[in-house]
Amino acid sequence: MRKIAIWMLAIATGCSVRVQAQNNPKMDKFVSELMSKMTVEEKIGQLNLVTGGEAVTGSVVSTGVESKIKSGQIGGIFSMSSPAKIRAAQELAVKQSRLGIPIIFGMDVIHGYKTLFPIPLGLAATWDMSLIRESARIAAVEATADGLNWTFSPMVDISRDPRWGRISEGSGEDTYLSSRIAAEMVKGYQGTDLKANNTLMACVKHFALYGAAESGRDYNTTDMSLHRMYNEYLPPYKAAIDAGAGTVMASFNDINGVPATANKWLMTDVLRQQWGFKGMVVTDYTGINELIDHGLGDLQSVSALALKAGIHMDMVGEGFLTTLKKSLDEGKVTLAEIDEACRLVLIAKYKLGLFDDPFRYCDDKRAKNNILTPAHLAKSREIASKSFVLLKNEQQTLPLKKSGTVALIGPLANTRANMPGTWSVSADLENTPSLLEGMQAALGNKVKIVHHLGSNLIADAAYQERATMFGRSIPRDERPEADIIAEAVQVASSADVIVAALGESSEMSGESSSRTDLDIPDTQRRLLEALLKTGKPVVLVLFAGRPMTLTWEQEHVPAILNVWFGGTETGKAVADVLFGDVNPSGKLPATFPKNVGQIPLYYAAKTTGRPLAKDAWFQKFRSNYLDVDNQPLYPFGYGLSYTQFSYGDIKLSKTTMHANEKISATVQLTNSGNYDGEEVVQLYLRDVYASITRPVKELKGFQKVFLKKGESREIQFEITAEDLKFYNNDLQFVAEPGDFKLFIGTNSSDAKETQFTLLD
Ligand code: BGC
Repeated sequence: MRKIAIWMLAIATGCSVRVQAQNNPKMDKFVSELMSKMTVEEKIGQLNLVTGGEAVTGSVVSTGVESKIKSGQIGGIFSMSSPAKIRAAQELAVKQSRLGIPIIFGMDVIHGYKTLFPIPLGLAATWDMSLIRESARIAAVEATADGLNWTFSPMVDISRDPRWGRISEGSGEDTYLSSRIAAEMVKGYQGTDLKANNTLMACVKHFALYGAAESGRDYNTTDMSLHRMYNEYLPPYKAAIDAGAGTVMASFNDINGVPATANKWLMTDVLRQQWGFKGMVVTDYTGINELIDHGLGDLQSVSALALKAGIHMDMVGEGFLTTLKKSLDEGKVTLAEIDEACRLVLIAKYKLGLFDDPFRYCDDKRAKNNILTPAHLAKSREIASKSFVLLKNEQQTLPLKKSGTVALIGPLANTRANMPGTWSVSADLENTPSLLEGMQAALGNKVKIVHHLGSNLIADAAYQERATMFGRSIPRDERPEADIIAEAVQVASSADVIVAALGESSEMSGESSSRTDLDIPDTQRRLLEALLKTGKPVVLVLFAGRPMTLTWEQEHVPAILNVWFGGTETGKAVADVLFGDVNPSGKLPATFPKNVGQIPLYYAAKTTGRPLAKDAWFQKFRSNYLDVDNQPLYPFGYGLSYTQFSYGDIKLSKTTMHANEKISATVQLTNSGNYDGEEVVQLYLRDVYASITRPVKELKGFQKVFLKKGESREIQFEITAEDLKFYNNDLQFVAEPGDFKLFIGTNSSDAKETQFTLLD
């Protein structure tokens, strides 16, 4: 009833019909009263988000910030931290601007604040929802202690293209896993009370489909069928919104011909009308100005387009600030559209409690006591060790014995600059030990570690410079490569075992870090070859911000531990896993291809009309390649343990169900190896016949289970009709009667299988 009244009021006052009831009369009254005092210029000022300059990701940097705050031309500042700086800016706003409206302070707090956790792709590899939520909670505690109240996270873009550098920032290729993680992150950041001084408002990004950039090149076009969008790419954004995410960020890319920032269908029809999102939408960095290069018009027209599409805050570009008043005077936008955007910005501030106390996040004591605490660091170490994925362990090379000498060789072994991983603007390198330092701290004098750089990160100096930008340079040795390698081999000769710390540097993934070659850089490969020739056992500790092509390494190196970028305590966590204090349990959240030509390669693919026979690697006139088989090197969900898990056959409670019924599927899981350990038991479904083609398998559930050695447990999943639903070509979300395959197993390609039927 109340909703109808508001819609009618909106129509009667000529207001856009997008205005949505917020169910908070006290807040609505407060905001309306405030807005009744505001000039149009002040309303437009609220839509302006400027950068404080601590992280700059484009060619434009905000200027004249102080005078703009005073004249009410700034609604938010991001990339500025510390209670002192934030207090100073907030004081200008509340004491020196005409209406004293407080500023919202944002930052890219992506995988921790000062205590860093693994990069999001690594976090996803834990498959541990409560640890993921805890990581976001700790990030919020630390960031708010440093004055912030808004984070541009979670990033939930599905990506099936590891060439795209930003695959590191999301949860990988899978819709279900990413959706679960998106919800946990939002709950971790926002807690139960946004007004509390230790909660951050979340911003789900990048809406939408940014991870489907053509050819994996950053910022590139996306073009996608609606059923793929609704079934595979949109659910994680929706999951974050359903979990209560306060804000949404528009993506840079073009979607089926209309860039997200100007896409009314996406921002209004889908986001607000279909999903009921009620918060504000912010652009990405200069997203409005970039509509000019997308070819949509000049700054005035693209700013009007963005406002009309449903964008409320303009990050850095100041298109709104400089053109909206003119567009209003010329009748190109309405006052109602400006009002709606302003109202949503003010509501976000109201929800954060900034009108009650604009300085609630500026507490010097909290900054001193709540950041990089021993408890946070211990959690970071635990999470890091659970994010690592054991890719290979021939003849139980691992775990290592805690004695003797280890040679830690490689350009990534002793550089703090390499530890944080992408988007770690807030990293405190003073408190971020290198791999060597962390391992030494964990092992004390039980194990002697000798070290050598071994090779340059990348042979090409210019490329290395690009790959280590942002002032995080990786040491380089300009002597001939053969000399460096010979020296490393000499150092390694005194050791019992060689640990090669190789792969990508921190800045080789992330924004604007797309690559077409996903091999370990060749200079590091030559080092690895030389180390293997010593005949000593070699363990590859792989730093990677994306799935890499490790076909050669899989063939030649006895043990491979993928450690992504594990955050502040990486070194200690690596020691924990290599020496067996922690049994690895991470599982891949994205497929590792055999070569780049296979990309996009993902497990939830369609069969085609000419599938390959099971286990065949080539058949003429079937869907395949002449030069590589269709299989990945490591499938989605893959990861080894020091122990073994065996699966019994699946037992179903029944083999037919009606839409209002459930089936339970049970397997007996046994830890049949020699170590206690954790296993991620994965449930997949396949709709065998449907009105549109359906993936060969889709993840629909998982459980992370700890079993002592020798222990067995029944693992049970319940399947309801909800799990069987998909969007058909009319975008109806339906479960179609018929046969379904059900798989339970240790990864997406190694699973037990059975079948059931959904009845009419
Ligand atoms: C990135 C966003 C980020 C923003 C603000 C952009 O370049 O795409 O993910 O939140 O910068 O730092």
